[in-house]
Amino acid sequence: MEGSAGLKHKHLEFTLATVSELSSSLTSSSSTPVIARFSADGGVAQLRFHQDSKFIDGFNVYLGTSQIFKLGPVQSLCVSKSCDTNKEKSYSRGVTIQFRNEEESRDFHSAFEQLQKEDDIQGTHLPNGAISASKSKFDNKIEPSSAKMYFHYYGQLLHQQNMLQDYVRTGTYYAAVIENRADFMGRVVVDVGAGSGILSLFAAQAGAKHVYAVEASEMAEYARKLIAGNPTLGQRITVIKGKVEEVELPEKVDILISEPMGTLLVNERMLESYIIARDRFLVPNGKMFPSIGRIHLAPFSDEYLFVEIANKALFWQQQNYYGVDLRPLYGSAFQGYFSQPVVDAFDPRLLVSPPICHVIDFNEIKEDDLYEIDIPLKFIASVGTRVHGLACWFDVLFNGSSVQRWLTTAPGAPTTHWYQIRCVLSQPIYVMAGQEITGRLHMIAHNAQSYTIHLTLSAKMWGPGAEQGGILQTSSCKLDLKEPYYRMSQPQPYTLAQDQQPHQLLQAQDTPLHTDDLEEPELLNEPSENSGAQLQ
Ligand code: SAH
Repeated sequence: MEGSAGLKHKHLEFTLATVSELSSSLTSSSSTPVIARFSADGGVAQLRFHQDSKFIDGFNVYLGTSQIFKLGPVQSLCVSKSCDTNKEKSYSRGVTIQFRNEEESRDFHSAFEQLQKEDDIQGTHLPNGAISASKSKFDNKIEPSSAKMYFHYYGQLLHQQNMLQDYVRTGTYYAAVIENRADFMGRVVVDVGAGSGILSLFAAQAGAKHVYAVEASEMAEYARKLIAGNPTLGQRITVIKGKVEEVELPEKVDILISEPMGTLLVNERMLESYIIARDRFLVPNGKMFPSIGRIHLAPFSDEYLFVEIANKALFWQQQNYYGVDLRPLYGSAFQGYFSQPVVDAFDPRLLVSPPICHVIDFNEIKEDDLYEIDIPLKFIASVGTRVHGLACWFDVLFNGSSVQRWLTTAPGAPTTHWYQIRCVLSQPIYVMAGQEITGRLHMIAHNAQSYTIHLTLSAKMWGPGAEQGGILQTSSCKLDLKEPYYRMSQPQPYTLAQDQQPHQLLQAQDTPLHTDDLEEPELLNEPSENSGAQLQ
C-alpha cells in the first residue's frame, strides 16, 4: 500500500511544551522541548512524539482511529483507540498536549484534521487485498450501538423468515433472477447482505459460476448451514462473514445482487453499503440487481388517521391524573406523535393527486449523495379536500437482459412487508380541485442508520389574488424515519364497490422510466394480513 502522499509535502513537525498520557504516569520532562511529528510509516498516518532525538515509547497516535479536542487555548486532548491486536480488548488512550502558544495550537489542529482526512481517503480506496488501517466507511458514519442492534436483529431467523415470507418480495427476486439466467450463467456474483443466503442460492440456481455471500450479522452461520444443506448449489457459494465495507474478495465480480431497501427505500442506510460494494467489487459495466430505485410521493387526505394521531396526545390533557396536572406535557406529546411516520397499507383513493417520483440510479449514484436527499414537490389537486400529509412508497427495477421486472410497494398493489409510509401534518391544509400544492421533502441521514425528514407542503391562493402568486397556507413537520408508527394492529381494509373504478390518480405525472415492457402495479388487490413491526 502506498503511504499518505499528502504527508510528504507538509510541515510535519511541531514543537510542544509538554505531553502526558492520561492513564499512565508517562509525562515528558519539561527541560527540553517535545517535538510532535506526523508520519506515514507503513502507509498508516500517525503522530509520534520525540524528545532529545528519541521517540517517546507508548505515545503513538494513529490518526485514522483518533479524535482531537481543544481543552483550552493552548491545551488539547487526543483520544485514540489502543492498537492492541486483540480487538476484543480494545480500549481508549488519551494524550494531553500542551502547546507553547495559541497559534501553534491552531496550526497543529488544522494539520491533524487535514492529515486525518487524507488518511481516511487513502484507507477507503485501498486496492483489494490490502488491509485498511483506518476505520471502515461504515464505522465512520454509524453509531456502534445502532449497528449492534441492527445486526442483532438480522442475526435472528425469525426476522429473516419474515422477509422470506413476503412472497411479493422474494417471489419477484426469484422471477427476476431465473428469467434472466443469461445474466447469471457462468458469472461471478456478490450477494450484498446475504442474510439467510436465499439470493445467493437463487443466483446459483440461475447458473452463477461462483457467488460470494457477504453477511455481517450472526446470520452468516445459518447461511452456511443452509447452503451446506443444498450441496449442488452450495459448492458454488462462499459465505463471508463481515461488512461489505470491510471484507476482501479474491476477485472482481460481474453481478451484484442485494435487497438493501428499507421503508421509504432509504431507511437503514443499507443502499450506501450496496453502492460501496459496487465501487469495491463490481467490474466496470457490471450488472446490479436491482439497478434503479424510485421513491413515489403524493399528498393524501385521511381524516381518520389524522384524528387517531391527534387523539393519542389527549391523554396529556388530563388535569387530575392521580392529583397531577398533565397538561404541561401536552404540546410535547402532540409533537411527538406527529413526528412518527405512519407505516400501513392504505387505500390509493386517499391520494389527492397523481404521484411524482424521485429516481435513484444505483449504477451512477455516489455513496455520499445519499447523505442528503432533497425532493422538490409539485402536485395538482384532483379534488377539493383537506390534505393531511404526504404518502410515500418505492419500487426497484431488475433490469435484466431478457426481462425487466419491477418490485413495487405501491398502495393498491399486493402488500409487502414494507407497506407504505405516510408523513402526517399536525396542521392540515385545504385545497380546491385543480389547485397547485408545492413543497419539499428534505431527508438528512443520521448515524443511527436512518433519516430525519423535513416536510413542507403549501397550497397557493385560489381565486382572485392567485395571480400575485401569494401562498395561502404552509404546513411543515419534522419526522424521524427511525421511529415509525406501525399501524398494522388496526388494518384498514378497503374494498371497492362493483361500479367504482380504481383511482385514476395512480398514473404518475412523472415517470421517466416508464416503458411499455415494464409491468404496472395492480391497483386493486386486497392487502394481505401479514403484520408486525419490521426493520425493512
Ligand atoms: N438478502 C437477504 C437478506 C436481506 S436483509 C434476503 O433477501 O432475504 C439485509 C441483510 O443485509 C441483513 O441480513 C443484514 O444483516 C445485512 N447487512 C446490512 N448491512 C450490511 C453490511 N454493511 N455488510 C454486510 N451485511 C449487511
